[in-house]
Amino acid sequence: MNYRDYIAIVKDFPKEGIIFKDITPLLQDGPAYQSAIEEFATYANRLHADVIVGPEARGFVVGCPIATSLKIGFVPVRKKGKLPRETVEATYGKEYGEDVLCLHRDAIKPGQKVVIADDLLATGGTISATIELVEKLGGIVVGLCFLIELTDLNGREKLQNYDIFTLMEN
Ligand code: 5GP
Repeated sequence: MNYRDYIAIVKDFPKEGIIFKDITPLLQDGPAYQSAIEEFATYANRLHADVIVGPEARGFVVGCPIATSLKIGFVPVRKKGKLPRETVEATYGKEYGEDVLCLHRDAIKPGQKVVIADDLLATGGTISATIELVEKLGGIVVGLCFLIELTDLNGREKLQNYDIFTLMEN
């Protein structure tokens, strides 16, 4: 499967100078979406994942089908103020200012093996904050999987202690 054929490149979105990788054509294509999820599920199964964690919002469309395919749970990471019960928080730097990601305090049990899924790895800020949350709760991050890795942004440098699986590099 040549996944690259299912990514639309959009210039100057969401603002001038950014070349956005739009994954919606891949999601719209049944066999391409299915194939990508099967690859991730095989990866997570090999690592004996107990649970899949995904940051909002595109981490949900990647992470949830992996979890159901393996008959394991899915845990959403959300922006501050969205989760209704007690949370743990991690702050991370963005291009302009900071953002806060949250996880329900009882979402991960100590010792659970976690695979984190998202659509795209850029600077690694989102995933580093997600790892911090999982580890705060005693989870063991056994792998990270992405549809796309933007290699120029060196996200991998922040993630040297973790196993990474990506379907495409850009
Ligand atoms: P990072 O935190 O690694 O710099 O950025 C990755 C996060 O930003 C991911 O959650 C991803 O959804 C979003 N993101 C950044 N750039 C793009 C892009 O070009 N396309 C898509 N689909 N998501 C992006």
